[in-house]
Amino acid sequence: MSKSQTRTAIVVGAGIVGLAMARALAEAGYKVTVFDRHERSVGASVRNFGTIWPIGVPNGPLYARALRSREVWREFCDATGTWSAPSGSLIAAYHDDEWAVMNEYVAMNEGIRPSRTLDPAQVRQHAPGVVANGLRGALLSTDELVVDPREAIRNLPAWLSERYGVEFHWRQAVTRVEHPWVWSGRRRYGADLIYVAGGTDFETLYPELFERLAITKCKLQMLRLEAQPTPFQLGPVVCGGLTMAHYSGFHATPSIGRMRERLSEQYADLIALGIHVMAAQNGLGEITIGDSHEYGHTHEPFNESSINRKIVDYLRSVLDLPSWNVKQSWHGIYAKLTDGKRSELVIEAEPGVTIVNGIGGGGLGMTLSFGLAEEVVNGTLQAETVAPIVATAH
Ligand SMILES: Cc1cc2nc3c(=O)[nH]c(=O)nc-3n(C[C@H](O)[C@H](O)[C@H](O)COP(=O)(O)OP(=O)(O)OC[C@H]3O[C@@H](n4cnc5c(N)ncnc54)[C@H](O)[C@@H]3O)c2cc1C
Repeated sequence: MSKSQTRTAIVVGAGIVGLAMARALAEAGYKVTVFDRHERSVGASVRNFGTIWPIGVPNGPLYARALRSREVWREFCDATGTWSAPSGSLIAAYHDDEWAVMNEYVAMNEGIRPSRTLDPAQVRQHAPGVVANGLRGALLSTDELVVDPREAIRNLPAWLSERYGVEFHWRQAVTRVEHPWVWSGRRRYGADLIYVAGGTDFETLYPELFERLAITKCKLQMLRLEAQPTPFQLGPVVCGGLTMAHYSGFHATPSIGRMRERLSEQYADLIALGIHVMAAQNGLGEITIGDSHEYGHTHEPFNESSINRKIVDYLRSVLDLPSWNVKQSWHGIYAKLTDGKRSELVIEAEPGVTIVNGIGGGGLGMTLSFGLAEEVVNGTLQAETVAPIVATAH
């Protein structure tokens, strides 16, 4: 065994961020061990839409990172037979201001992104479920890839073990880290490098550091509809105008202010709940729909059916589906960066220990993690250092 293969790394957390770190470290020759407190991954990474969503990030390094991540997703899906679809995304316009934003977006991204506008007849060809009444047109982007997160996140650990020899310790919470050691209760494990990818658990490892960071938790309500009757196909991931107000990729368009002003009058109640609506179909024909956004360090464990209703009502103004039978509803919580300065948190908690969290500001972990992890491991993205944590007695 060569010397480089004997370098070791421990990753805490088997959500998409931890799994992506494990892959990048293994690719770089590390012997990797992953710990997760649960028997399998049940955090934000299995609760999302499963959209690999380049349209949600601005041009430049984040867009390149999203495309690199998509490449890795494809490689993994091809190698394991995990379902994925290059569905693309479609945002339907029912107002002149939405149509103006779309046309400006396409012009600004000419030669950069594969996006174009469609007239109503073309929209119906791509996405037959889109409501035709009052339709101005749509923005089609062919960048987006869809996986079913429940299947994909379940298959990833097996792939990492088989392909790279990554070892998993499930049902083992890491309760303390002090380089080169991590403890799970009284059991101690050592590694050259340690990465903490604990998602919304800010309280167990380095709590005093998390208290100093501009970070909170965002709760999102989601629903899944039963499989649509065949042969109906949703086609691309379908969104309404509220989505353009949400994603920074649209913020530089001249008409965004006008569109936002109108939306904030027309949909004040939805905007107050952070609702912007998307629908993505999986390989079984089921459609995942959401979502709302609520911020705070502690969230009610209960879902509000009034929020679910508002999500469905708004979506019905954009989509006419053969079946609206709800199969499941749930919420997910991700770590949300709050200062608007960072697009991720990569922080050296102490020499040899790096925290990786808040990807894409929080809500784009599926889209960016694989690319980000490679940049962290190859040193393109340097971890920030923060003032050292001083041990205090209370
Ligand atoms: C409803 C919803 C929809 C979303 N839609 C999308 C989307 O379509 N596209 C997209 O790109 N992103 C989406 N996101 C964002 C994406 O899901 C997150 O950015 C991503 O899942 C965060 O991954 P993570 O690994 O940090 O967190 P998690 O998946 O929560 O994983 C953290 C893991 O760490 C473990 N852990 C924590 N502390 C410890 C410890 N001390 N010891 C051992 N284990 C520990 C936990 O058990 C958990 O398994 C969505 C998020 C939500 C909630």
